[in-house]
Amino acid sequence: MIRIVNETQLKEFFRNLDQDEVSTIGLKFPMGLKDYTSWLEPSGHRVYLVFRDTESQKPRGIVFTRTHSHTDGISKMCDWCHSVRGGDSIGLLSARASQNLTIGVELCTDLSCKEKLAHTPGVNDVRETLSPDEKIERLLKKMSDFARHHLF
Ligand SMILES: [Zn+2]
Repeated sequence: MIRIVNETQLKEFFRNLDQDEVSTIGLKFPMGLKDYTSWLEPSGHRVYLVFRDTESQKPRGIVFTRTHSHTDGISKMCDWCHSVRGGDSIGLLSARASQNLTIGVELCTDLSCKEKLAHTPGVNDVRETLSPDEKIERLLKKMSDFARHHLF
């Protein structure tokens, strides 16, 4: 468990490029980080992620912008937790790779991947034999790979 004592420490996990966009409204400190935590900007425009990097074991932060798109009931799969859902629960989240390049990925739009993994699989989910802990580790590895390849 990583202990995060205040907002200043939390913001240091984000890249300089993102730090001004991090809103910590609604968060309580100190907070404990076991695997990952996510929260929404009050407007719902952005979603924030702080996760434990699987290689360095250090926390990293990503600012995602939510892109609203009408999917007409088509089910999509979250690239990180592999949940399959319809409606607005899975959609495109974009992170800034640099000042003029953004990288988009199809994810649970509120990053509730952990909650989805903890519950009974949805009817459309891919059947898997991994244990809940293995699924969380795979999720963290996906986050780490995404951050390493595109952002950090
Ligand atoms: Zn997910």
